Order: sequence, then C-alpha cells, then structure tokens
Amino acid sequence: MRLALAILGSALLAAWGVGFAGPYEQQVLTIAGINALAVLGYQLVFGRLGALSLAQGIFFAVGAYATGLLATRWGLSFPVTFLVSILAPMLVALVVSIPVLRLGSHYFALATLGIAQLGTLVAVNWEDVTGGANGIYGVPEIAAFGQTVPVGSAMLVLVWGLVVFGVILFGLLTQGARGARLATLERSPLAAGAIGIDAGRTRLTLFLIGAGFAGAAGALQAHAVGVVSPAVARFDVMVAILAMAVIGGRGSALGAVLGAVLLTHLPEWFRAFESYYLIAYGVAVLATVILLPSGLAGLIRRTPARPPTRPPNWVATGPLAKSQTGFARPAGLARRPPATLTVAGAGKRFGGLIALEGVDLHISPGRIIGLIGPNGSGKTTLLNLISGLERADTGRVRLDAVDISGLPANHIARLGVARCFQHPDLPGELTAFEAVLAATPGDASAVDRAADSAADRAIGCLRELGIDMLASRRVSDLAAAEQRRLEIARALATQPRVLLLDEPAAGLGENERVDLARQLRQLAEGGLGILVVEHTMDFLLPLADRVVCLVAGRRVAEGEAAEVVRDPAAISAYFGEAPA
Ligand code: ADP
Ligand code: MG
Repeated sequence: MRLALAILGSALLAAWGVGFAGPYEQQVLTIAGINALAVLGYQLVFGRLGALSLAQGIFFAVGAYATGLLATRWGLSFPVTFLVSILAPMLVALVVSIPVLRLGSHYFALATLGIAQLGTLVAVNWEDVTGGANGIYGVPEIAAFGQTVPVGSAMLVLVWGLVVFGVILFGLLTQGARGARLATLERSPLAAGAIGIDAGRTRLTLFLIGAGFAGAAGALQAHAVGVVSPAVARFDVMVAILAMAVIGGRGSALGAVLGAVLLTHLPEWFRAFESYYLIAYGVAVLATVILLPSGLAGLIRRTPARPPTRPPNWVATGPLAKSQTGFARPAGLARRPPATLTVAGAGKRFGGLIALEGVDLHISPGRIIGLIGPNGSGKTTLLNLISGLERADTGRVRLDAVDISGLPANHIARLGVARCFQHPDLPGELTAFEAVLAATPGDASAVDRAADSAADRAIGCLRELGIDMLASRRVSDLAAAEQRRLEIARALATQPRVLLLDEPAAGLGENERVDLARQLRQLAEGGLGILVVEHTMDFLLPLADRVVCLVAGRRVAEGEAAEVVRDPAAISAYFGEAPA
C-alpha cells in the first residue's frame, strides 16, 4: 500500500511538474527527486537495519565528484559516468565496512562520522582532483544514445523515473519474508541468528546498496546543477538526508519520497520569512518530529505480509492426520530428516565462575530429553553453547557426524539446530505470520525441496502449534502463552533436525501446559528430537523420555524420568530444596 502510494505519488509529481510547473519549480522538484533517491538508500541502512550511518552524505559526494570528474576531464558519456558514480561509493562503503560494520550502534555512528569528515577534508584539500574550494564547473547535461536530457521537463521525468525504479528495488529488498528477516535482525538480533539469518552479510548488502543509491543521486545532482561544489561534501547534506528520513518516516519508501519533497520545498516556502527562515524551518521540522514520531508515512499503516488465503493441500486431511509412516505430520509440510545431537565434555567458564564442566548429552530422533537443575546450574548456558551463542571452552558438539562446535549461530541454525529462548525474543511490530515467515529458509536454500511456498510453510507451522488463527495479529498484542507457542512455530519454520526449548511452560496455565505437552509429543512422534529445559515437573516428567539433571554446571543424574526423580543426588540438589 505505502509502496504503491510512493510509486503513484512519484508519477503524479513528475506529471504535474511537466504539465504545470514553471522552470524554477521544475528544478526544485528535480532536486527533490534526487534527494528522494539518496534517502531511499539511507532508509535501507538507518531505517531497516536501525544503524545510524553518518556516511550517506559522503557517498552522495563521491557520486557527484565521480560524475563531475569523468564528464569534464575525460568527457566520458553518461552511461559510463553514472555507473562509475554508483560503483565508486559502493567500493568506498565496502572498504570501510570491514572495520565499521562490526561496531555497536554508537561506535558505528562515530566511525561513519569520521569517514564523513575525512571525505570533506579530501574534497576541499585535494585540489588537483576536486578543484578544492572552487569545485568542478561545466558538468554537461545528460546525453546518451544520441539523446540529450536537458534540465527542465526531461531531467525531471528521468529523475522521478529513477525514483520509481528505486522504490521498486527498495520494495524487492524489504517486502515479505525479506522484510520480516530485517525486522527480526533489527529488533531481536539473537533470535535472528537462531533462525539462520546471516547478520553480517545482510548488513553489508544493504550498506552497499544504500551507498549505491546515494552515488546515483550525487551523479544526477551534478548534471542537474552543472557544478560539483565542495558543499556536496559538507555535513549539511548528511543532516538533510537524516531529517528527510525521520520526517518522512523511518524505514519507509513512501517516507523517503515525502520527506525529500517536503524538506526540499520548505526553504522555498519559508523564503518569505527572510532572515527568520531558519527558525521557521527548525520549528516546522521539530513540530513534525514531536507530533508524528513515526513520520508522515506513519499516518498510513504498514500493510503486513498477507497469509495465504488459498488453503494449502494438507488442510483437507487435517493438520496432524497420521501419514502412512505412522508419524503425525501435516502432509505437504516439508521436513528434513531428524538428526542426533551429541554433546561431549562441554565446559564453560565466565571469569572465575564455572558455568559448565564436562557435560555430556545425547538427543536422538523422536526422543524428548528433559534438562532440569536449580537456577544458575548452567541449563541456558548449555543451550547457548549448542546453538552457537556462546563459545565452549572445552568439548565438542556434533549433529550426526558433523562437528558444529564453534560455528556461528546462524550457520548452526541452518544446519538444523533450532532453539527457543527463556524469554521469547520476537519482533513486536510484526504479525505472527511474519515472525514465522522470517524463519522460512531463503529462496536459494537446498532445504526448499517441497512444493509448498514459504508462506504456506509459515502458516503450516503456526497450525502445528494451534495458533494459525492468530496469523494476522501483531506479536506485541499476543499473550505470553501465545508468544511462547509462536516462538516454537518460528523454530519449526527453519525445518529443524533437532529442537531446543528453554523453559517453554514457564508462565503457562494448566490447560495451556497440557496443550503444549501434546503438541511437543506430536512433534517427537514426527521424528524430531527435542531438548526441554524445565522447572515445572508435572509438565516435564510425563513428557520426557529421559531426564538429565545439572547442578552447578555438572551432570549429577541421568535416566528415565522416574529414576531421576528418585536419584539421591538430584533430590538433594534440586528436589530437596523445593519438593516437586
Ligand atoms: P540456568 O539456565 O540453569 O538458570 P544459566 O546457564 O543461565 O543457568 O547460568 C549459569 C551460571 O552462569 C549462572 O551463575 C550465571 O550467572 C552464569 N552466567 C550465565 N551467562 C553468563 C554470562 N554471559 N556472563 C557471566 N556469567 C554468566
Ligand atoms: Mg536458564
């Protein structure tokens, strides 16, 4: 909806500009479109990754200078200069991304600010190339394939045509499952790793594409105004881009267009205030930020990804109908073959504290293993070691024969180890359907052998946990018990080969626990091996095939549930303090 509005609005603006605007207004609109392109790219980084980059302005300058230089010194044609102007800032972004993209938010902002300052210094002081304080004069109008694009109507149409193209590209990068993955990465970075999202690659991709957008904008500006002055490398450009993104609406393509058009025109409209114009401008900007914290585009609600309306083929047979193999599973919902997870001699210290020592664990397909132990006994730490959130000091973790110790969390997730968190870690602004959609394997995945689409699979997972009727509800509106189930549904969407749950029954009522136990049992009957960390014994003991008891990081007992409850070591350490 908002994307469609952005495209429609851009087309209407261009049409109005061509039909009704005078030359001056056409030029202002052209600059507004150029700004919209730079802001669109910025929305990918600042809006969707939530990373406050302060380098977007300097990427704009790199594009402008590249075009200025290549067009005036070497007389290269527009297709070449435009391409170089897009690639050059991407190259700069690639070089700086190596040290910068790993940094936490504040340091990332500071580091990109440093890059921006460096760029400004270069622009002003490297006079032989940049023309120093004078800049580069005589940038020609755009000419390609025997056509010239004179400033005025033609340039206006070209620029806004590129804005439309940019909005479509933006949509491709941020809609559906991709958008859900970005929201998960921004709001729940740990969960993002646990569902297989490669944070590093995602950040790099968007940072580079964002820089490319800025470069394209800089190139167009050089053609539109005919000069590249050092003002394009000033920090003001960055501030303007940031203000446009915030006022238009963070993370939204429509916001980029609205913010750019509004803030490019505001100085024109406030000319009448003469010397008070900056104050009027400032008040207008402040008022928007205070009155509309999610920007102008925030006035129109985001349209969430729509769950499939056509019922998938397995609905007719019932979601948990027994298949011929005897496993209860929805027909058509793809599963990977279950795997055996083996932990051998796992050890972890935090400073002087021994959180785990020499712990062995074995989860076979179709079995439910209970992991019990007093608070602080290392249960969550063990899950963190297995899923790659923490690095073990000693020991190995194997998935079937594959050694997964020390691999990054997203890699382990993609190999088939899924986990849920002690406190559900879900991005609140997504719908339940989108939260699960984020975890469906990407298009290129070899996992995707089934004919069912990612959307069908997401709904299928919600259905397995009995919450498909919540698909369109916002995650933040769900009750705690619903969120716990949603998190398990999301874990299932990764097509796990083994599933780790950290206190899934905490905070659930009696009936909800019975339901959850039944659903977990059905998953196990479908072949999945499950590890359940739990304190609620009336939930765990009937459910678990075997129980492992940890005390102070050591395994003190292991066996059938009934045996472990009678084990003296377990009783003294655990049941002794709070009889079950
Ligand atoms: P459980 O889940 O069994 O309650 P945890 O695995 O969360 O226990 O914690 C085990 C011990 O390790 C606790 O003493 C806890 O304080 C400590 N611990 C866990 N994570 C960290 C960490 N990141 N840094 C320092 N200490 C930690
Ligand atoms: Mg814990």
